[in-house]
Amino acid sequence: MADLFADIAVGVSVNKTFHYCVPGEMQGHLATGSRVLVPFGSRHIPGTVLGLTSRTDAVGLKSIIEVLDNVITPDLLALARWASDYYMYPLGQTIEALVPKAVSRAKPKKKKFVRLMRQPSSPLRGPRQAELVRMLAERGETTLDALLGFSRATINALKGAGIIGIIEREIPASAAPEGFVPSIPPALMTEQAGAVHGIVEAVEAGRFEVFLLHGVTGSGKTEVYLQVIAKLANTGSGAIVLVPEIALTPQLLARFRGRFGNRVAVLHSGLTDRERADEYRRIQAGHVDVAIGARSAIFAPFERVRLIIVDEEHENSYKQEEGLRYHGRDVAVMRAKLQNAVAVLGSATPSLESYHNAKSGKYRYLHLPNRVDHRPMPQVAVVDIKALPGPSLYSPVLIEQIKKRLEKNEQTLLLLNRRGFSSVLICGDCGMAIKCPSCSVSLTFHKSDQKLKCHYCGYLTRPPDRCPSCSSVNLKLLGSGTQRIEEELQALFPAARIKRMDSDTVKGRHTYDTLLRQVDRREVDILLGTQMIAKGHDFPFVTLVGVVNADVGLNLPDFRSAEKTFQLITQAAGRAGRGDTPGEVIIQTMNPHHYSVQHSRQHDYEGFYHDEISYRGELGYPPVGRIIKLEVKSPNESHAAEGAKAAQNRIRSLMRGKATTLLGPAPAPIAKVRGQYRFQLLLLSQKRDVIRFLAAEGRNAVAEKSGRKCRVIVDVDPINLM
Ligand code: ADP
Ligand code: ZN
Ligand code: ZN
Repeated sequence: MADLFADIAVGVSVNKTFHYCVPGEMQGHLATGSRVLVPFGSRHIPGTVLGLTSRTDAVGLKSIIEVLDNVITPDLLALARWASDYYMYPLGQTIEALVPKAVSRAKPKKKKFVRLMRQPSSPLRGPRQAELVRMLAERGETTLDALLGFSRATINALKGAGIIGIIEREIPASAAPEGFVPSIPPALMTEQAGAVHGIVEAVEAGRFEVFLLHGVTGSGKTEVYLQVIAKLANTGSGAIVLVPEIALTPQLLARFRGRFGNRVAVLHSGLTDRERADEYRRIQAGHVDVAIGARSAIFAPFERVRLIIVDEEHENSYKQEEGLRYHGRDVAVMRAKLQNAVAVLGSATPSLESYHNAKSGKYRYLHLPNRVDHRPMPQVAVVDIKALPGPSLYSPVLIEQIKKRLEKNEQTLLLLNRRGFSSVLICGDCGMAIKCPSCSVSLTFHKSDQKLKCHYCGYLTRPPDRCPSCSSVNLKLLGSGTQRIEEELQALFPAARIKRMDSDTVKGRHTYDTLLRQVDRREVDILLGTQMIAKGHDFPFVTLVGVVNADVGLNLPDFRSAEKTFQLITQAAGRAGRGDTPGEVIIQTMNPHHYSVQHSRQHDYEGFYHDEISYRGELGYPPVGRIIKLEVKSPNESHAAEGAKAAQNRIRSLMRGKATTLLGPAPAPIAKVRGQYRFQLLLLSQKRDVIRFLAAEGRNAVAEKSGRKCRVIVDVDPINLM
């Protein structure tokens, strides 16, 4: 037998592939996309076969150790190659990032599944037996492990009588359980029907197309998704539905399960590696029509994908902030393109990027302008808190409205901006933050040297004595922590049942769902929290939504801060007054006339887009220009600074005449994270290829100058600039 060699991508941080010998007994069992275990240094690690050849110049090659029971389909491999190139990340590591760990590690273990074989013909002995039968009738097939609450004796008795059966298999079967009756979909409204028709037509034609489905919360977007998927189910091809992790609620899953029964796979961060691997294999085996999940579900291993839905497409949580720094929405569009499939991006507040693409005709625009129940949009009141009496964080208007809700036994939702970012200097009279003259983002105040700094370009200045726009001397630092906001609230309403929900108080799905259930059961009067409470969940008894500190978002040193504020206020409005009672929204701000506040108050997305895109255009920020961030970090501050300087010098020397802007290096707004000092450089240009080239050169320069003293991270289309 001729010698055979395999070209293999392994998950290590160098961007090249390696050759290995294929032992005789493996020949015929390997193909492009096969997953294997190979020796690398002193370790055994997984890798992926990219090609096979009978010739190689290398000598003394090591051999593949094992063929793993898994294959990357050609479509996914093509997607991985694109992602590796686009995000400037090694191919081997890119592939590892899109396969669940447990799938690479081991062959699937067989598991025992229990199912109902027949209904008992005579009454059962003992309530436990009856309970088990009822449970299996409801749930369909269940793993034996999930029946821990039942004794061996109970299980054996039913098995002995032939009422239940125990089957050993790798993954659960997914035929709809016997007797599954899908819930009946509502008749669509005109706009919904138009959207479903347009999307289905494109899918059936088998052409690549992207739709932007723009509709306020409650306008029936999810219903559109469900009915499009229903039309395509049982055609042997899959649909992927991405939702933000936080919106993956029991309510939403129940809606999908109600329509598609077991033919739904769910992928979320609460799964164990094993469970994730099981869902992955169920998809590979063709047992499901729909995979629904957070960001990484975009890599669901369907043979053939015809439809990809990205709900709340504007959500920043679609961006992975470590390793392969991909954006789930953008990968979705690319996967659709590579497979001649259709992508549907849904949102009440589309990202500037997607709306820009819709305007330019790249995406097809679908609009659902009304709520399904024709409930009017809530009244949004804007309260100027510059003139607040005393140090209170709550305006008299807001306090009075909360009181009314407490009296009527209705609920209030209070939104806080995510980060208590306190180092922005803001004018107490006109509400303006002090901004960088060249980057138009807020400067941040540094206590240590009493200076204002720009975190994009490094501009440094003394804090002015007077506000540059109104000459007031009343300048102050912005922000207060969520702690203080909660304490003051409790002091104002001592009898109210107040709960706080943010990433400090909510660890994991379980606490999150528990808290939401408490709100549903009206055991909570006031729910206080960050953006996470504004998403995906219906609160029928909430009739008042307050945004306590809208300015914190407005003044973050981030060019997207106005967009984020617009989104926050619009989302908040979407939460007010479901059910019969009309809702009310109160926005507290020091910038009542800011365009993001005014347009969101009037539910005017188009107006906001118009103002915002002209700001982006002036400075070349996305979506008008392209951006890549280089982050240089080290436990040693001067090493990080030197590394960043090396990148700057190299880029400067190469960028002449290339219509490119280099901002920085500057310390990141959050200058030190987990013991690492962080410096950042931003590359902006209309031409993606130019900044890709410069970013790669910058990365090389740091590696040459600093070796292992620094790490460089390339972030293409960065979202997080903090
Ligand atoms: P969105 O995803 O835009 O927030 P949903 O699809 O969740 O909107 O719809 C909001 C509510 O209206 C849901 O309770 C849904 O079941 C209901 N709904 C949606 N479309 C219709 C329809 N055509 N007829 C009746 N009820 C509908
Ligand atoms: Zn001023
Ligand atoms: Zn600047």
